[in-house]
Amino acid sequence: MPDIIHFENHFAKLDAEQDLVLTPNERLSRFIRDAYSEYQAAQSNFAFVSVTANSYQSWLVRQWQALTSRREHPSAGLSLLSVQQEFLVWQALLEAHPETSALLNLSATAQAAADAWLLVHEWRLDITSLKDSQHLQSHLLFREWSYEFQQWCSENDALSRAQLPAVIEQAIVQRQLTTPRCVFLYGFDEHSPAMQALLNAMQKRGSKIDDITLDMQAGHVKRFACADPQSELLSVAWWSYRLLQQQPNSRIGVVVPDLTARRAQVLRSFNAVFEPSVIEPQAATHAPGFNLSAGQPLARVPLAQAALAALQLNQHQQTLDDTSKLLLSPFLGLHSELQVRAQLDVNLRDRDELQVGRQLLITCAAEFCDAEQQPLCPNFYQGLKRFDQIAKLHTNKRYLPSEWLKVFTEQLQCLGWPGERSLDTLEYQQLQAWQETLNEFNSLDLAVAALSLSDALSVLRRCLQQNSFQAQTRKSPLQILGILEAAGLPFDYLWVTGLDDETWPPAPSPNPLLPLSLQVSNNAPQSSAEREALYASRHTQRWYESARHLVFSHAVVKDDKQRLPSPLIQSLDCSEFDINTEPALAQLQLQHSKLEVLTDNFGGAVREPQAIKGGSSILRDMAACPFQAFARHRLHASTIADIDIGLNAAERGNLVHHALEIVWRNLLDSKRLQNCDDTQLQKIVSAAIRAALAGIRHKNFIGYRFVELETLRLQALVFEWLQLEKQRAPFKVVFNESRRQLQLGGLPLTIRYDRVDLLEDGSLFVIDYKTGISHINAWEGERPDQPQVPLYAIANRDKVVGAAFAQINNREVVLKGLSENTEIAPGIKDPRDEKNLDLPKNWPEILAHWQSTLESLASEFLAGKATVDPKVAATTCRYCELRGFCRIRETVRENGEGNQ
Ligand code: SF4
Repeated sequence: MPDIIHFENHFAKLDAEQDLVLTPNERLSRFIRDAYSEYQAAQSNFAFVSVTANSYQSWLVRQWQALTSRREHPSAGLSLLSVQQEFLVWQALLEAHPETSALLNLSATAQAAADAWLLVHEWRLDITSLKDSQHLQSHLLFREWSYEFQQWCSENDALSRAQLPAVIEQAIVQRQLTTPRCVFLYGFDEHSPAMQALLNAMQKRGSKIDDITLDMQAGHVKRFACADPQSELLSVAWWSYRLLQQQPNSRIGVVVPDLTARRAQVLRSFNAVFEPSVIEPQAATHAPGFNLSAGQPLARVPLAQAALAALQLNQHQQTLDDTSKLLLSPFLGLHSELQVRAQLDVNLRDRDELQVGRQLLITCAAEFCDAEQQPLCPNFYQGLKRFDQIAKLHTNKRYLPSEWLKVFTEQLQCLGWPGERSLDTLEYQQLQAWQETLNEFNSLDLAVAALSLSDALSVLRRCLQQNSFQAQTRKSPLQILGILEAAGLPFDYLWVTGLDDETWPPAPSPNPLLPLSLQVSNNAPQSSAEREALYASRHTQRWYESARHLVFSHAVVKDDKQRLPSPLIQSLDCSEFDINTEPALAQLQLQHSKLEVLTDNFGGAVREPQAIKGGSSILRDMAACPFQAFARHRLHASTIADIDIGLNAAERGNLVHHALEIVWRNLLDSKRLQNCDDTQLQKIVSAAIRAALAGIRHKNFIGYRFVELETLRLQALVFEWLQLEKQRAPFKVVFNESRRQLQLGGLPLTIRYDRVDLLEDGSLFVIDYKTGISHINAWEGERPDQPQVPLYAIANRDKVVGAAFAQINNREVVLKGLSENTEIAPGIKDPRDEKNLDLPKNWPEILAHWQSTLESLASEFLAGKATVDPKVAATTCRYCELRGFCRIRETVRENGEGNQ
């Protein structure tokens, strides 16, 4: 409720029928209207004329409407350009201008030109006298652009908003508009020359100009230093929360200087304190119990995002992430298809494409069928096909925005946007904001020529980006505001955050298209450090006059830099705010729930072992962590694959496997290897690598140069490996990337050998290719890290006399293995010599140990063992994708274990 005590004197003088109150923004004018109503109620006047309180800009527009409503007036046929229309005109002029550099960011330069045009008019800067010899090319170029802009406006009967004050001033001077008895100004720090001229014109017509001021002075002022911006926000959230608990009727203000940019952080901190239940999955979206002045770009609200992602299908291709958003959006198509579309998203990822075209999506949706070959998401599939037909009709066409709007609307209807479920309050407001933006897009016909489809989409995206969505909020005594919005509002308590030495005063930021000297000499906004210091000092003084209790704060460390307090608050005594947070919602729920402890380490025995699909990875996962094996092989839990540019580590490893498989299919035994000289061997290797690489050419971003580099890498590795194999005792390759079925402890397994060699004495030697780093310690203990080789060995227990990792990578090409016969190959160790290896000291016993260890792992898996028990938590869990599922972090925290 407005605190009218400060305004009583002013309101007593005010004649609502004849006077006008002007403010710098809508928030303040709303505040004055409410305060005036309160004032009248306090006087027991329940029927009274409302005060006319407008922001300066909206008052100008109203005057313009009044002027142009008179048909005989020369301005009657002119159109007042909207911000978007004006931007597009600037952009088109710059694009067409012969001297605009191709290196310029066109859209940013068009924005700078629009800003400079506004400065020129608002601050009455004379650019007609810029001399070619004295000014930069950019300044002279802007002068030329301005002439062209002015000419465009004349030819198209348009008026820019920057010119509005001068037009209204002229109309007042010529008595074409009525003037108020008195103009009360409230909340202005300064008047631009254009505004001052307008006020002077009104004064000459007999209007009295008066200021409304707040007669208040802060009695309690504190300064807090917070560790970082995040704890600063959390501190102010708790401070306001506690104040409201103690004094629910007090007016509390929180100022965040860069509120628009930090909106999400602010919302998170205040929600954590005021609305902790919003983190619950089923919590309805609703307006929070505090008033946040900054909105978010409409392009970022989910409902508009879904529409944009859908329209993006008109483009040749879109990113996989955007396609995923589209498939997973609840704002498209039938709600009943949402889950199936999620599976379609997984299928799409299996195609290994980073960019997805409309045709690929249609093909995927068509192939995603049930047993009767019917699409599993028919509504989405049919919608896509209709969307496609419309897109094809308009390919390579150029239309005005209003015509594109019809096409876009039809396409969105095809995809069932905004969905079939009822929208909640917030979504409904978002839909209204979307419609308003479409109306704005529709009005752009005035400012642009016919656009291509891609340009039309860019313009629509920009409109959505520029339009801010602000949810309607409940009336709240707590207001979170930016610096300009807070100016002039009275509070009982006010906390101003972010006042470090680099933020306050702000750094000057003159317009690059206007000469600096011109801006400084005319005292234009943001033109010099002195002006910014004065601006900051005035604002700081205003805060002192806005609340009885005032707090200033700053972060000690921000953006990894130590910060000092702003020089404007440095003299105040500093203390630390005691956050003393209350428990978070999750903790509260835990504290107030009756908990029952249930140890559930078994997922139920496997009923049909033959239905289990998998090989050595079941035993590897079981050894690493029983829950990991249970989740992956019984519940089929897995992550959605990330798609990389080029090849990932697994694909590079597969290439080495594949190339060696082809080489040994050709060579067959060590004798042929020995008979090949280096040139012949290089030829065999080259052919094998070419064949191996043929399979990856379809992948994203695999070009000729990439294949060339990969060939060189593989050639060197495979050749070096074969040189090592030449040093081995005679052998013949009998299994080369072959599969075999095996039963272990009742568990059927499919094992895939990289390689098994038959030695001269008829015994077998097992080789496992590794392109990473491997150690034979991975075979030791009751929970071996890499049970593949032990498994391959026991599968042919009677004949296998040794086994080894063939480590083939850029760092080392080497054999690491065990056998009692160390002559088999270089790098093979006798188990008796391996003192630090936790394995028996002779080969038959090693095999027996592996047999019992692996059988035991297989039996435990079949029995349903699912204990969350990582072998070494710090390393086993590091790359495990199941952390969110097994909740190991919570277990570690509850047990008070160390850093995992
Ligand atoms: S994250 Fe650790 S505890 Fe959880 S399943 Fe994976 S390995 Fe087991």
